[in-house]
Amino acid sequence: MPLLGQAPSVSSRLVSVAVPVPTLDLLTYSLPESMPVPAIGARVIVPLGPRTLTGVVLNVTPPAGDRDIAVKDIVQVLDEGPFLPADVLQLAEWVSDYYLAGPGATLAAAMPPHALTHRVDAFRTIRSIALTAEGLDLAERIAVGPRCVPDTSLPSLGTRQREVLIALKGAPHGLDVRQLAERGITSAVIARLRTMGFVAVRRERIDRDPFGSGGAAIAETADIEPRTLTTEQQQAFEELCNWTRAPGFRVALLHGVTGSGKTEIYLQLADEVRRSGRGVLMLVPEIALTPVMAAVFRARFGSRVAIQHSGLSDGERHDQWHRIRRGDVDVVIGTRSAIFVPLANPGLIVVDEEHDTSYKQEETPRYHGRDVAIMRGKFADALVVLGSATPALESYYNAQQGRYTPLTLARRVMDRSMAAVRVVDMREEIAVEGPDVVLSRALREALRLRLEKHEQALVLLNRRGYATSVFCRQCGATIDCPNCSVSLTIHHVGARNLSPAAQAQWRARCHYCNFARLVPNACSNCAAPYLERIGFGTERVETEIRACFPDARVARVDRDSVRRRGSLTDTLNNFARGDLDVLVGTQMIAKGHDFPRVTLVGVVSADVGLGVADFRAAERTFQLLTQVAGRAGRGEHAGEAIIQTLFPNHYSIRLACAQDYAAFYARELEYRHAMRYPPLLAMVNVVVRGKTFDAAMQSASDLASRTSAHSNPAMGRFVILGPAPAPLTKLRGEHRAQFFLKGTSRAAMRHAIREALKEMPEISRKASVDVDPLSVL
Ligand code: ADP
Ligand code: ZN
Repeated sequence: MPLLGQAPSVSSRLVSVAVPVPTLDLLTYSLPESMPVPAIGARVIVPLGPRTLTGVVLNVTPPAGDRDIAVKDIVQVLDEGPFLPADVLQLAEWVSDYYLAGPGATLAAAMPPHALTHRVDAFRTIRSIALTAEGLDLAERIAVGPRCVPDTSLPSLGTRQREVLIALKGAPHGLDVRQLAERGITSAVIARLRTMGFVAVRRERIDRDPFGSGGAAIAETADIEPRTLTTEQQQAFEELCNWTRAPGFRVALLHGVTGSGKTEIYLQLADEVRRSGRGVLMLVPEIALTPVMAAVFRARFGSRVAIQHSGLSDGERHDQWHRIRRGDVDVVIGTRSAIFVPLANPGLIVVDEEHDTSYKQEETPRYHGRDVAIMRGKFADALVVLGSATPALESYYNAQQGRYTPLTLARRVMDRSMAAVRVVDMREEIAVEGPDVVLSRALREALRLRLEKHEQALVLLNRRGYATSVFCRQCGATIDCPNCSVSLTIHHVGARNLSPAAQAQWRARCHYCNFARLVPNACSNCAAPYLERIGFGTERVETEIRACFPDARVARVDRDSVRRRGSLTDTLNNFARGDLDVLVGTQMIAKGHDFPRVTLVGVVSADVGLGVADFRAAERTFQLLTQVAGRAGRGEHAGEAIIQTLFPNHYSIRLACAQDYAAFYARELEYRHAMRYPPLLAMVNVVVRGKTFDAAMQSASDLASRTSAHSNPAMGRFVILGPAPAPLTKLRGEHRAQFFLKGTSRAAMRHAIREALKEMPEISRKASVDVDPLSVL
């Protein structure tokens, strides 16, 4: 019996809210009677301990009977309707469940920037609101921020003023002035709100239109008119088209060799689908590819194309997101997080270069964009097309098992031949040229020929920096990262053509935590002045090419060289325009790009990836080499690839040179079978962090036993391997231990871990769970 006067009010409601904090549960709040019942998918401000946070409503229920509920009140309901549509919520719920990520963290990943960052002040919310004023210099923007958001039912407010405030409530990053102008809101209305003290106005720089910088020169080569498809393209296109004519879920794996014209198929298919009134979602792997692909789609389809990726400024991304949500867009192109965009009724979802590892998010929620795309397609009754010249083993396996429909493009368009591949055995080269050789004689000669003929070359080395490390010739000490269990990578700083002798120009940096220091002149261990740089990366290759060919126009593309926003697209545009002769880079230059003037691809140290303790090392190497060789000879002139390696007989290298995917697949599947690795089994990786290594091991061991205790053979069996030290035993100052679950039922493994984490909240805060891990470092 409730005590007198304390019975919960009949009209009160309980609201389940996903809050972006690391918990697997929804949090429950009560709704004060004064507030309207929020829609599912609306954002609300809630208290959590001493903080207030913004979350998303996932459920509203009457309180359960006589239970005594001591829950806190919601502070404010931010949206009048759902901020995220129901299908996106459903997708996020699936992601949260499948990848064992908190629903709040998952929804945060599904939202535009700052949609969940609101501060609460004494009155109400303060948000920063940006308005682009009409007629202003485009380089400037007027930002309007409310001093406080008044109750929009205030009688003193005019209709227009109220409209502005309501609109701003749902637009945390602001609204474009043109949008407001379209609704008939003049600058006088804003001026009045400002006088009333509700908004503050300031000027700030406006960011570029994401289409302005992206791929303009590259797009010039793209025709606006659809091309006449080749017979092979036409066959694949017709099949795909048939499947989009009626709603229905299907996954097609488009396995087409490099240069077989997959993009043209996507374009023509997208056109059909958008004409039929359904949306098109196109995922591309790297930021580098988004502007290029977007420019191509824009050239064909005009302005109803939106772009979404993390390389955009928050403002650009936000504006694009709201265009999609308003329904101003039929085609969205973006990187993995674009799979969550609020595009209505998608009929086609394309995952280009579906094998690419950048589809996997390496932080919570650790989802795979391709796999989420498949689920979105399933929920939306849409066609999902996975395209690649080198499908992921998982995808090809699924096609063989009948889960995906395979389609093949075996030939390049216009009867262009595949690049002729030559392997250079670096052991022989070292015997002749000495141990320091970076560019083989064959590659140097081939480069010289290209420069002479004014053709272009790509040179790939999938390792950044100038040298891999320095070591002391007297005592053998290396310079290690104080925070991570790796040695520091050596970069050179300052001028391009520096003298290698000047030590002060060398900087040692950690590629995991960014710790950096100058390389000292003497060993800090034994004081001997014999520090030697060993191993080499892209900076060294660039230096060598400049030294061999002083007149060549050379540029480098890797994560170090593209820090500045826009520099990557600038470099790629310069190359596409012919203003550069040689592009040196990491895997960033290997994929997707279509540079017709490239007739030579060089690969330095093709085997770098094989040294990694990862069961996918061979697959990665095969994919990278096949893709990069595929960049050569895409124009009128035939292409050549020169692959330097110490292991010419390794099957991944041999079969990549032969461009024989089927043989590689068969060989690799045999290995996965024997070792009981995916795709034959599913894996879950759990890393537990600790202040000391022993503490990490102890926690991992406790969590592993508890997980094991929750195994339920009726759901499916699994084994636990470990705990053991993680390959990176120390990362950013924390020690790490890991264990694996292997089994055929992901549901059984997820269930066991979820229960174990719930029972061990202390350890769960130090654990990260990775379902279907791609990298196990
Ligand atoms: P993939 O993505 O399969 O490697 P692309 O789609 O980049 O190949 O196509 C390779 C090149 O062939 C591009 O320059 C493209 O414009 C061109 N191309 C594609 N289809 C045709 C066609 N039917 N006729 C002529 N050129 C085509
Ligand atoms: Zn480090």
